[in-house]
Amino acid sequence: MKPRIGVLALQGGVSEHTDMLDALGCTSVAVRRPEDLDGIQGLVMPGGESTTLIKLLIRWDLVSPVRELAGAGIPIWGTCAGSILLSSEISEKNHKVNQPSLELAPVRAERNSFGRQVASFQEDLVIKGLDKPFPGVFIRAPLLHPLSDRAEILCSVREGAVFIRYENIWLSSFHPELTDDTRVHRMFIEEAVIGS
Ligand code: GLN
Repeated sequence: MKPRIGVLALQGGVSEHTDMLDALGCTSVAVRRPEDLDGIQGLVMPGGESTTLIKLLIRWDLVSPVRELAGAGIPIWGTCAGSILLSSEISEKNHKVNQPSLELAPVRAERNSFGRQVASFQEDLVIKGLDKPFPGVFIRAPLLHPLSDRAEILCSVREGAVFIRYENIWLSSFHPELTDDTRVHRMFIEEAVIGS
């Protein structure tokens, strides 16, 4: 059976993820309601605007169901704004901001922290588990500060961590769905299939 992977479809870069997942042999499911989570083996939270996304998650009663999914061990991967949603703390320029989140990983996401550089850039990344560099696309990306030894850094750039894994929760501040390199998606699908 094809792996069934949900993509949160409230706002942001949804189709880039669903297209890539479908091309890799998955059945992607656009998640807008709690019942859309039924039977999925993994969940992707796309990039977009984290302040809008959290409001929509609350409005559509998705906060508890997504937390339950995480508690059941289903892999959840947030890219960019999605990684901010999964973090336990959010800051901007080192000041904690009062923005609610799902608090599923002991990580402080520092929003828009590449502010002094061009807002968007591409950089070759060395990622744990991948033998060749990965094209990292960053768009007003957060830096990810681990708050526990159990938050494993899978990739860092000069400024700090940009890919962290905490148990079944994955956070990347870059956008693999905007490249034609499918390796991170394949890693995630593998994890989702093994876990279920
Ligand atoms: N800066 C955005 C935020 O804070 C994230 C940008 C993105 O997802 N590309 O939500």
